[in-house]
Amino acid sequence: MGRKFFVGGNWKCNGTTDQVDKIVKILNEGQIASTDVVEVVVSPPYVFLPVVKSQLRPEIQVAAQNCWVKKGGAFTGEVSAEMLVNLGVPWVILGHSERRSLLGESNEFVGDKVAYALSQGLKVIACVGETLEQRESGSTMDVVAAQTKAIAERIKDWTNVVVAYEPVWAIGTGKVATPAQAQEVHEELRKWLAANVSAEVAESTRIIYGGSVTGANCKELAAKPDVDGFLVGGASLKPEFIDIINSAT
Ligand code: PEP
Repeated sequence: MGRKFFVGGNWKCNGTTDQVDKIVKILNEGQIASTDVVEVVVSPPYVFLPVVKSQLRPEIQVAAQNCWVKKGGAFTGEVSAEMLVNLGVPWVILGHSERRSLLGESNEFVGDKVAYALSQGLKVIACVGETLEQRESGSTMDVVAAQTKAIAERIKDWTNVVVAYEPVWAIGTGKVATPAQAQEVHEELRKWLAANVSAEVAESTRIIYGGSVTGANCKELAAKPDVDGFLVGGASLKPEFIDIINSAT
């Protein structure tokens, strides 16, 4: 079976109740491809998750932007995987580069989080990607492989994992990877999965691209054979997100 196109919208730390109402309205009123063709998941900040989940059309799912690395307890300010499951939130984004760089999340910590979230029944969008310096020094694949390895060492079942390749230099910068650059890393990542996990996991795991995706550049990127969808930041707060959702059709 082919890999179903996947589009995630990462709202990051944005939104007031009024703005959230407006985005939900856009999502509910937009003409979107059927769930047979595309899986859509939006990720509001924690505080808006229940209201967004209750107001969104059923074809669009929700994700948290993070969760704690183990069972909840005395971890002030954290939100546990169990809480997300309890609220009926099916997905979580883990290892976003903003958390890796600003909050010091290591490859191992992200790997532990992915393993724990999966063990609790969450589905995971696991982010990997290199900085500009790493790309320019020719170590893109080493970096991405090390990030993926830390996950692969901790999990057995990849069914509920989507890998988001998000070059750090492209996130929020307006500097999108070219379709050829995205395809090159996605293809290499799939080869890495084949060699280090299994051919089946490599074939079935969706590898999505993130970094300055817009309504204007999504079609060309989506046409690449190893680009299975997108993780979208800025443009997921705008009407053009509907075009991105429909970019595989
Ligand atoms: C992101 O935050 O995951 C992202 C890709 O952001 P942007 O689309 O704004 O570059």
